Amino acid sequence: MKLSEAPVLIHTLSSADQSLVDGVLAGQRRALAKAITLIESTRADHQQRAQQVLNAVLPSTGNAIRIGISGVPGAGKSTFIEALGVWLIEQGKKLAVLAVDPSSSVSGGSILGDKTRMEQLSQREEAFIRPSPSSGSLGGVAEKSREAMLLCEAAGYDVIIIETVGVGQSETTVAGMVDMFCLLQLPNAGDDLQAIKKGIVEIADMVVINKADIDKQATAVVRAQWRNALHMLRPASPNWAPPVIALSALHKEGIVDFWAQVEKYQAALKPTGEFAAKRQHQALNWMWQMIDSGLRQHFRHHPRVQENLAALTLSVEKGTTTPATAAYVLLDYLKH
Ligand code: GDP
Repeated sequence: MKLSEAPVLIHTLSSADQSLVDGVLAGQRRALAKAITLIESTRADHQQRAQQVLNAVLPSTGNAIRIGISGVPGAGKSTFIEALGVWLIEQGKKLAVLAVDPSSSVSGGSILGDKTRMEQLSQREEAFIRPSPSSGSLGGVAEKSREAMLLCEAAGYDVIIIETVGVGQSETTVAGMVDMFCLLQLPNAGDDLQAIKKGIVEIADMVVINKADIDKQATAVVRAQWRNALHMLRPASPNWAPPVIALSALHKEGIVDFWAQVEKYQAALKPTGEFAAKRQHQALNWMWQMIDSGLRQHFRHHPRVQENLAALTLSVEKGTTTPATAAYVLLDYLKH
C-alpha cells in the first residue's frame, strides 16, 4: 500500500473539520480546545478525523521550544510555571501548558489537581492551559499530549511546557517528547538524592532547586550534591553540561536565569544539529510505540488468539508448554 492510500489519509477533510483546522491555524483558543478534545476522544471515527486534522496542521508545527518540568507534588511546579509563564508573556511570548499525569488515568483523580492551579496564568489570553487527558494508559495519555503539543504549536504558541509528577514512568515518557527536560527539586539536604537512585539524573537537561528562599545554606548543599552527581555522569551531549540552578518560584527570583539557560541550551545544540536530531529520534520512537501498541491490539483482537489464549496461558502456568512455544503458536495465528 502506498502512503497516499493509508486509511487515515484517504478521506479529505469535511468542511467542519477544515474550519477547525483554519481556526487552530488562526490561533483561536476555542478551535484549539475543540481539536484537542477530538484527539482525546476514544471513538474510532473521531480518531480518524483527529489524524486528518493533525496531518493538515503538521506543516505549521515544530516552531516552539518544548520544555518538560517534573517534580514531586509540592515541589512548586505550578507556582514556578505560573511565574515563568507570566514573565514569558511580558517578554511577548505565548505559552501552552500541558500536563501528563499518570494518576489521572488510573484513578480518574489527579495529583496535579488541575482545576484550581495557575489562576493568574489561566486568565491570560496569551496562555493556554490544558489538564492531563484522563483516559487510557500512560502510553495513551502521553500520545494524546504529544498530539496536543503539535496542535498548540500550529496555533502559534512559542513555548510549550509539559508538566509531570515524579511517578512511575512519567518522567521518562515526558523526557521523550520534549527538547529540554528539567527536574524541579526541593532543597532537602537529607533527601539522599532520590532521583539519582531512580535513574532520572541521566535524562535531566537542567536541575532546578526551588524554594531557595527557605534555607539558603541547605540550597547550596543540595546544589553542590547535584553538581557532583551530574559531573560523574557522561553527558548526553558533549556540548551541554546540565546546569544546576537555584530559584524561588514564590518570590519570582531566578526566573530570568532559568530562561537564560533555556536559550543557552538551544544556542549550544541547534548549530550542531543535535537539537533537530533529538526531535527526529523522538518522532521515530513515537511511530514505533504506535506500531507496537497497534500490533498488540491487533493480536489481542484476533479471533483465533482469543479462542486459544486462555488454554495456552494455563498450560504455560502449569509448565506443560514452554512460554516460547506458546508465543510461537499464538503469533502464528496472525499469519492466517
Ligand atoms: P506542585 O504540587 O509541584 O505544583 O507545587 P505548588 O506549586 O502547588 O507548591 C506547593 C507549595 O509550595 C505551595 O504552598 C507554594 O506556595 C509553595 N511554594 C512554591 N514555590 C515556592 C518557593 O519558591 N518558596 C516557598 N517558600 N514556597 C514555595
